[in-house]
Amino acid sequence: MIPPLFRYERAGSVEQALSLLAEHGDEAKVLAGGHSLLPMMKLRLANPAVLVDIGRIADLRQIRLDGDQVVIGALCTHAQIASSAVIGEHLPLLARAAGMIGDPQVRHRGTIGGSLVHADPKADHPLAALASGATIVVQGSQARREIPSDEFFLGYFTTAVEPDELLVEVRFPSAAGLGWGYEKLVARSNDWAVVGVATVGGRIALAAMGDRPLRARGAEEALAAGLGIQAAADRAAEDTEPNVDISGDVEYRSHIARVLTRRALAAATGSG
Ligand code: FAD
Repeated sequence: MIPPLFRYERAGSVEQALSLLAEHGDEAKVLAGGHSLLPMMKLRLANPAVLVDIGRIADLRQIRLDGDQVVIGALCTHAQIASSAVIGEHLPLLARAAGMIGDPQVRHRGTIGGSLVHADPKADHPLAALASGATIVVQGSQARREIPSDEFFLGYFTTAVEPDELLVEVRFPSAAGLGWGYEKLVARSNDWAVVGVATVGGRIALAAMGDRPLRARGAEEALAAGLGIQAAADRAAEDTEPNVDISGDVEYRSHIARVLTRRALAAATGSG
């Protein structure tokens, strides 16, 4: 499969990338790891006239601590995140999520920024970011915005990032010492979630249960009210619109969401 013709521009800095995006407007797309964008182009689901390659901007590859936050650059790969000592200590849920993405090739090319902007409701980083209460930082030519993960995902493959903006970093509150759980049912190894559940610090998020990653608010309420893990898990599929495809229908995915929520909460509370 051959993608449609496009013009290739390599940005050497964030400023250069922003100026190329401003110049080409809706015609341009950012290229990071290319592991979602290029398949979309080959399938003719995306047809950008210009690709702005940000892959060599070293500033976007850093992982660092800033007070009680872990700051992860947009170009950090899934493999880098899965093996980082800082993330292992402060964000073990994210390390687990990143380590479960695809195969080694995908994990060494794909980036957290690309995964978040691609916004597949079955994907791992969006699920982990929402469960963790992360903040997504985007830079435009005029302003920098900090977007809470609860407001970042707007629908299928749609986020709050504007065409002339670059996702530059993601800020996660440290979860060192907190109980957490990450459960992902897959139909085949190296695959996206049939259903995914992530929980840390009383937040519970679901993958493949709607047009975007969702909070399981009913389950969170039950947990906060002290009703116990099973009562919380029983409410996991409330107010969801599960994806329907060859891997499962509404009833099946709702059942799996309840099962995985119970498992994730049991892991988080050490009662599993
Ligand atoms: P790209 O493909 O380069 O870009 C994706 C989108 O984000 C494009 O629209 C691009 O313009 C935009 N973009 C990228 N970076 C930025 C930025 N900094 N600012 C603004 N816009 C940006 N994902 C999972 O979650 N779980 C899986 O199990 C899984 N399995 C996979 C298996 C295979 C075989 C493949 C090919 C992919 C799989 N993926 C999976 C997807 C993978 O994680 C991708 O790497 C990821 O979705 C996109 O990251 P990328 O860096 O490759 O982004």
